This record gives sequence, structure tokens and C-alpha cells, in this order.
Amino acid sequence: MGKDVQGLTVVFTGDGKGKTSAAIGVVLRSLGHSLKCKMIQFIKGTIDSGEIHIADKFGDNFKISRVGKGFTTARKYTQEEHKEAAQKGIEEAVADMEHGVDLLVLDEILYALGKDLVSLEQILEIIDMKPAKMHLILTGRGLPKELEEKADLVTTMQATKHPFTAGIPAQKGLDY
Ligand code: ATP
Ligand code: MG
Repeated sequence: MGKDVQGLTVVFTGDGKGKTSAAIGVVLRSLGHSLKCKMIQFIKGTIDSGEIHIADKFGDNFKISRVGKGFTTARKYTQEEHKEAAQKGIEEAVADMEHGVDLLVLDEILYALGKDLVSLEQILEIIDMKPAKMHLILTGRGLPKELEEKADLVTTMQATKHPFTAGIPAQKGLDY
């Protein structure tokens, strides 16, 4: 990255669709500049989402990692087990920052926060230890005030209309 690079903390939140999509868009843009990107997904479901398969095409420049077994679908796991999985994601995030990625996306980390699988303090610590030139993106619904204040950029997706309410199921490519 250039010498004028100022790493920012970005949040995509809100009830509307587009949080993970926006993060993937930024990853794609960064990859276009051969920047090193990492996405850690604190997944809610186990759905086979397209982004998992694009990482292979970018070699070392893009890695994607899914932590957990799906917090909503795998009810056979205890809260402790889900917590352990989410904590692996935190450890991985710390390691990625130490290894010097240019862009780190913690997808659905706010969901994990809402479920008490990670703590607000842990997220604040990640922001504090973030390398000065690294961009950090956090996604998910339910942004606490403390994080809003700490972030440099917050975009709230507003659910004006969604096909789900008309009974239209999730579509390949668009939703997963
Ligand atoms: P996407 O991954 O499509 O960018 P998102 O990250 O903003 O969506 P999530 O809360 O992670 O939204 O939910 C993911 C799934 O839920 C997607 O299939 C998305 O289309 C769907 N979804 C998102 N917002 C809504 C909504 N307001 N009503 C119904 N379904 C929604
Ligand atoms: Mg999402």
C-alpha cells in the first residue's frame, strides 16, 4: 500500500440487505490492487455461499475462513461450543493482523456479539490493535453505540423492500 494509506474501521450494519455483499465488494476492489485480503465469517447458517469459492482464484491474496458450525442451524451445539468457535475467529483475526493483511473483514461479528459469543471489549481491542494501514470491516445487525463512536465509517442498510416478505426465497448469486 502507498505511504498515504490510512487504515479505517468500517461498519456495515442495519436491517436491510447488503452488509456482507458490500464487504465482498470492497474485497474485490482491493484484490484489483493486489492487496492482501482476509474475511472471517462468524456464520449464522451453514449455507454454501458463493464467496467461499472465489478465494481459491486469488491464491494468497484472499483467504476466507468460516468459524463455527452455523449458530442458528446447528442447535445441537451448546452455547459454550458456539462461543469456542467464535473465539477461534477472534484469535484468527489477531493472527491476521500480526501477519499484515491489508484488509480484514469480520463478517457477522455483530451477530456473534449479540449472541454473547464474543465481547464488546474484544472488538474494541481489535480496533485498538489494528495496524495503522490496515482497513477493518465489521458487519452485522445491532451496532452498539461504543462501536459506532469508534468506527470511522458506518453505513446502515435500510430494509425498504425485500422479496422475502413476498415469499420469494433466497436466490443463488444474489443472496448466497
Ligand atoms: P447479503 O449477504 O445478501 O449482503 P446481509 O449481509 O445484509 O445480506 P444478513 O443479515 O447477513 O444480511 O442476512 C443474509 C441473508 O438474509 C441474505 O439471504 C439476505 O438476502 C437476507 N436478508 C437480508 N436482509 C433481509 C431482510 N430485511 N429481510 C429478509 N431477508 C433479508
Ligand atoms: Mg451478512
